[in-house]
Amino acid sequence: MSGEQGGPDPAAAPGRRVGALAGARPGPLLLCTGGIHGNEPAGVRALEQVLAELEREPGAFRGRLLGLAGNLAALRRNTRYLDVDLNRAWRPDRLALVDREQVPVDSECLEQRELLAELRAAIGQAREQVCFLDLHTSSAPGTPFACIGDTLRNRRFAKPFAVPVILGLEEQIDGALLEHLNNAGLVTLGFEGGQHQAPESVENHAAAIWTGLLAAGCLPPGDARVRRARELLRSRGGDVPRVLEIRYRHGLRPEDEFRMRPGFRNFCEVRAGQVLADDSRGGIEAFYPARVLLPLYQGLGDDGFFLAREVSRFWLRLSWWMRRLRLDRLVHWLPGVRRHPSRAGALLVDQRVARWFTIEVFHLLGYRKRRQEGGLLVVSRRAHDLRQPQRIRI
Ligand SMILES: [Zn+2]
Repeated sequence: MSGEQGGPDPAAAPGRRVGALAGARPGPLLLCTGGIHGNEPAGVRALEQVLAELEREPGAFRGRLLGLAGNLAALRRNTRYLDVDLNRAWRPDRLALVDREQVPVDSECLEQRELLAELRAAIGQAREQVCFLDLHTSSAPGTPFACIGDTLRNRRFAKPFAVPVILGLEEQIDGALLEHLNNAGLVTLGFEGGQHQAPESVENHAAAIWTGLLAAGCLPPGDARVRRARELLRSRGGDVPRVLEIRYRHGLRPEDEFRMRPGFRNFCEVRAGQVLADDSRGGIEAFYPARVLLPLYQGLGDDGFFLAREVSRFWLRLSWWMRRLRLDRLVHWLPGVRRHPSRAGALLVDQRVARWFTIEVFHLLGYRKRRQEGGLLVVSRRAHDLRQPQRIRI
């Protein structure tokens, strides 16, 4: 269904469950959400298209596909969210509240409760690998790309997607659905399909779903629709490195009066010292040569922009071997590093002692999340790097 300019139509509001399909043969489960942000209807439209096509012609489809719409109330109003950003709401404290309270505390509470019920029911029935694909669009135009938490399972899933892959984006923000499900043991990938209203964004998302069905193991590589989808994504790739990592997030407070300077697209290269935006304190410069991601050109949101840099093949290989050899089990022997007393998978780092080696070492071993705690640096990594847990609880 198309809007007046041929773009995704915000008025054609979906139900929670866009569709579900079970193959004749058992297999993996692919969960897919669109419209977690209500001004991003393209993912929902793409899910409708792919589910309809698969129902007509399942081919060699096996396993299950469940398509869900995210923030229904916000989708109806074509706004990012009403009370709470639904993609920042998957924190343990908030989830406990959503599970416990009978009366919704805000508009997104109800959305979240329904999504949880759908996801839990589907995961509860799964007997094989469970994968999750989250579809988004952005306010700036640019090349489509994928985001993954840096686990080896996610890297394998991302391989067939012929678009740039970003490591460590959700590590920069708290409460993303992708991170919540990744931490619970699912294989996860976020897909940015392009600009919110661009008709190509729906095509890109549909291609991402077909590719996701291949990556999950629901469809074989020879399926003509999968082949076409991968070719489409390859043609949209542009001159961008294959793997990048987030090095900086410019977070916003309401009083900042942040304004992005015009003309930045996703992945455009910037020089050290180049002014990217302005706020109440003046111009905001890039600290080093990098590529800009997700520059904010819309009213809502608390991420101004991100800076990313290329990751070399050598580094990817090296980190793969280090993790296969489980060198992470030795890292707390380094001077100034010890295990966190209460959090599994987290380390306390005294930077006065440990300054001779850099954050790169932690990145190699998958420790990407950084927080300050009582004068010490806390770094943590994702669980389930190498295999799915026996039971997934979300
Ligand atoms: Zn989004």
